[in-house]
Amino acid sequence: MKRPILIHPDPRLKKVCTPVSDLSDDLRQLADDMLETMYDAPGIGLAAPQVGVTRRLIVLDCVKDEGEAPRPLVMFNPDVVASSDETNTYEEGCLSIPDQYAEVTRPKLVDVRWIDRNGNEQNETFDGLWATCVQHEIDHLNGKLFIDYLGAMRRQMITRRMQKLKREQARA
Ligand SMILES: [Zn+2]
Repeated sequence: MKRPILIHPDPRLKKVCTPVSDLSDDLRQLADDMLETMYDAPGIGLAAPQVGVTRRLIVLDCVKDEGEAPRPLVMFNPDVVASSDETNTYEEGCLSIPDQYAEVTRPKLVDVRWIDRNGNEQNETFDGLWATCVQHEIDHLNGKLFIDYLGAMRRQMITRRMQKLKREQARA
């Protein structure tokens, strides 16, 4: 089932999310719903607070080639355990900040540890777009958005645009 995506600014997007201790069917359903919502948007990553659930859960799939098989990843309690000094700059966007893009510099490589959909611990090194995406999504779990990496003027400009968008949506 698709879930509505919260638009910035929203207090739920600023919260530090709580870890998942027991993998219930409800949480697995939430992960499946988030994947459906992400693919439908379409997007390459989504964090639970973006659908109003302040728990440490993200989903992502950065496969871009049409011919390549999809790789949906579900991560409970994801953590960056190591990151490279070398950095990468990507133009980032966010499903909670529609149609706004900005360059953000982050570590190029990250080692991430997480609990998968079956409750097993996983560990993988991500590079390129995958690394940027997983860091962007983990930031959401700590109440941080990609616009928090920008200067105050730019951030305020984007926030005002989103406030206007939300007013228009409320009227529609
Ligand atoms: Zn985002």
